[in-house]
Amino acid sequence: MNLAMPPAFPSVKSRHVAVVGAGAAGLVAARELRREGHSVVVFERGNEVGGTWVYTPRVEPDPLGIDPTRPIVHTSLYSSLRTNLPREVMGFTDFPFITLAGENRDPRRFPGHREVLMYLKDFAREFEVKEMVRFETEVVKVWILENGKWKVRSKKTIFFNNENNDHYNADIDNINKSEVELDDEIYDAVVVCNGHHTEPRIAEIPGINLWPGKQMHSHNYRVPESFTDQVVILIGSSSSAVDICRDVAGVAKEVHVASRSVAHETYTKQPGYDNLWIHSMIDAAHEDGTVVFQNGKVVLADVIMHCTGYKYQFPFLDTNGIVTVDDNRLGPLYKHVFPPALAPWLSFIGIPWKIAPFPLFEFQSKWIAGVLSGRITLPSQKEMMEDIKAFYSTLEASGVPKRYTHKMGESQFEYNNWLAAQCGCQGIEKWRKQIYLAASANKHLRPDTYRDEWEDHDLVLEAHEDFVKYTS
Ligand code: FAD
Repeated sequence: MNLAMPPAFPSVKSRHVAVVGAGAAGLVAARELRREGHSVVVFERGNEVGGTWVYTPRVEPDPLGIDPTRPIVHTSLYSSLRTNLPREVMGFTDFPFITLAGENRDPRRFPGHREVLMYLKDFAREFEVKEMVRFETEVVKVWILENGKWKVRSKKTIFFNNENNDHYNADIDNINKSEVELDDEIYDAVVVCNGHHTEPRIAEIPGINLWPGKQMHSHNYRVPESFTDQVVILIGSSSSAVDICRDVAGVAKEVHVASRSVAHETYTKQPGYDNLWIHSMIDAAHEDGTVVFQNGKVVLADVIMHCTGYKYQFPFLDTNGIVTVDDNRLGPLYKHVFPPALAPWLSFIGIPWKIAPFPLFEFQSKWIAGVLSGRITLPSQKEMMEDIKAFYSTLEASGVPKRYTHKMGESQFEYNNWLAAQCGCQGIEKWRKQIYLAASANKHLRPDTYRDEWEDHDLVLEAHEDFVKYTS
């Protein structure tokens, strides 16, 4: 060993770290990185913390979201949205998402979206995270330098207030922009927390180019009023599709849901509704405005709404092709976090889906923070690549499509516990897993009422007994 060369990690070391995004992932990342002794700058292009939970009635000008030059509205929330997870499961592990007194608070177990934003703001205040955030500052380019450091180029986002004192983003409202100010800075590491519910995925429909109706993606759905007396086709069967079809059925003439997860011949009326039908997928759309389903039914429709999910996108990230997105697989990533060739200096938080996001973000953040300081050791680059290859082979052998690489479901608990073991901290609470599973089953059983009727009262009690150690 050359004694003149310092070892990679002489001891637990403080790094200068850039975090991209101040949503739930960026907030907890910032907290954990600072706890570990790193110096942290969080870049946030919006003007408040909370990411996707910052609701706005505004939508993008391109309703399908396919124009790459369109101005971006980050959130995909609709006005009526209530959480699809119970609050005990949703919260960070040491900052329970409990009901707080106050006239502006929503006490429900599955609260409205505003309550989640208030919780994230409470979190940011409690752990003094806001002071690390540079608001209205968008990261436009991130790249690695020859010396292994990272250059982060950012630009100030221009906001202004109109006569009603609403806050507008100049990009979105196409306001004349003054000179764009770019700023370049050097960091030891970059943690990417930019969210993945903004770039729409669109279903492919034969004949759609000639179909004369209106198409949109659920990213641009806010309220049902504009669908009054219309015939609406919704594609998808995710939580958003389940909510939005009911929202729209309240005003529309007919709502037809095309679902990939039902049998070919399916054609059923949704119990409790006289204008909501479930079909198998769309076969083709035609010039005369009709849409034909695989079950043979023909519907003359005004609107097709794609509730078909989102794509990972990192327009600012230049890794020389080391990290790529292929059919919604972001890779190669060791344990969905570190690209081996760039580890630990580049990492991603929040890539897994079908999860309880906040606690998973918290475990990933602790791991990244500990690895960056040298307290936790990663396997060699070669070993990490082998682990990734083995993971891909397992997916392939089980017939899991590439686009489901980051889908977790029940395996999230094992994953969280693996991360916790790396960090030497407590794993996920047993009750959290049990409540998650009970809530999923209840949602399946009672899609219309699962947010207000449940049977896991004993587990809720257990969670609250556990919370006392953080709230007393
Ligand atoms: P985001 O919240 O999207 O935050 C990313 C942040 O990065 C944003 O603030 C954005 O402005 C910023 N950003 C992006 N690019 C840049 C850039 N280049 N420069 C600077 N800043 C940038 N989860 C639950 O737990 N329960 C639920 O009930 C639930 N319901 C959901 C319903 C819908 C409709 C959607 C879309 C999601 C839902 N989720 C739910 C998942 C939700 O996405 C996560 O809870 C979580 O908020 C994601 O946090 P994030 O920080 O990864 O991303």
